[in-house]
Amino acid sequence: MNDIRMPPRHVAMDQFGCREGELVVGGEKLTTLAARVGQSPFYAYDRGLLRARVAELRAALPRAIQLHYAMKANPMPALVSLMAGLVDGIDVASAGELKVALDAGADPAEISFAGPGKRDAELRQAVASRVLVNVESMRELPALASAAQELGLPARVALRVNPDFELKGSGMKMGGGPKQFGIDVEQIPAALTEVRRLGLAFEGFHLFAGSQNLRADSICEAQQKCYELALRLAAEAPAPLRFLNLGGGFGIPYFPGESRLDLTPIGANLESLLERARLDLPQARLVIELGRYFVGEAGVYVTRIVDRKVSRGQVFLVTDGGLNHHLAASGNFGQVLRKNYPVTIGNKVGSPMREVASVVGPLCTPLDILADRMDLPVAEVGDFAVVFQSGAYGASASPRGFLGHPEYLEVLV
Ligand SMILES: *Cc1c(COP(=O)(O)O)cnc(C)c1O
Repeated sequence: MNDIRMPPRHVAMDQFGCREGELVVGGEKLTTLAARVGQSPFYAYDRGLLRARVAELRAALPRAIQLHYAMKANPMPALVSLMAGLVDGIDVASAGELKVALDAGADPAEISFAGPGKRDAELRQAVASRVLVNVESMRELPALASAAQELGLPARVALRVNPDFELKGSGMKMGGGPKQFGIDVEQIPAALTEVRRLGLAFEGFHLFAGSQNLRADSICEAQQKCYELALRLAAEAPAPLRFLNLGGGFGIPYFPGESRLDLTPIGANLESLLERARLDLPQARLVIELGRYFVGEAGVYVTRIVDRKVSRGQVFLVTDGGLNHHLAASGNFGQVLRKNYPVTIGNKVGSPMREVASVVGPLCTPLDILADRMDLPVAEVGDFAVVFQSGAYGASASPRGFLGHPEYLEVLV
């Protein structure tokens, strides 16, 4: 037995290369990329890594599984355009996202629109756009019917089911128990009766149990339960199922001690479900929808160090951006106990000179921390502090107006 316990570490951020001691993003050394962008802070998303991630999923999962990108993870228009060309469909959660997806050239037949509190105007936009609406409430059904009648177009619907189970080990639970999402499974028979009565174009079911899960066994179990549930509900549906969205929840490693998700058992599990679906639901296409798993690891948030202070022996590297641009890395986006995202000094990654330092943003609040006492290359004013795993829920999920600092830029490289 070894008595010396090593503290847990971050998984290696080896998706990016290193050249001449610098991080390489989109084929460029960080200092060259920063010069090209022309200002800091900025987010950079690596096209090659985005393509590689989709290819990796295609290789690990059965061919017949359709991959949808849940664009709330990263709605940057250029990135959505790239993703639209790589995946089988886009999931949007507002009319604003719907516009970006349509502008990106996504096929409306393969766009689905989920989310609670859809306004009548948004439902009308969805019908006019000919996209599939994942219905989250009984109220949406008559609103869709009147939009369909007025426009002379079918209202394509799938019912989002709030199941009677949860996705175990999820960072965020979005199904099971009382929820604002979906229609409780107990009410689905009544909803199906309404769908039939109103003459809506029923296509299938949408289930989404939770998010940010690193346990393949939990994901497989949730997929199986979702499949069983959909099969049971399909017996009462007004038409054969053409669409079954089994959700997603694939996580990425953010914190020390976490490791990357093993796709192999998930691929095998989906293969067995597909085999059953060929008999049970021969017309249904099986979809999984992923946000962060596609884009999270392909992005970095790059800040410049504007001050280096030592306070009572502790080194603080003060950067030009923080929680105003990257709420999640600061720990204030739903984390219970703050933990560090992986961070480095992007123009000194290979440096043998290291020290323990905290990276903090420029906001007047002690919550503005990007790295709390991390082992980092020794950094000076002008160097770049880089936050990895920043391609999802970064830019668009942060309070950019807070404290009135300059905006970030986003580049796809
Ligand atoms: C947020 C969300 C997703 C994406 O979740 P990730 O954790 O980014 O994969 C997928 N589907 C629905 C319905 C969502 O609300």
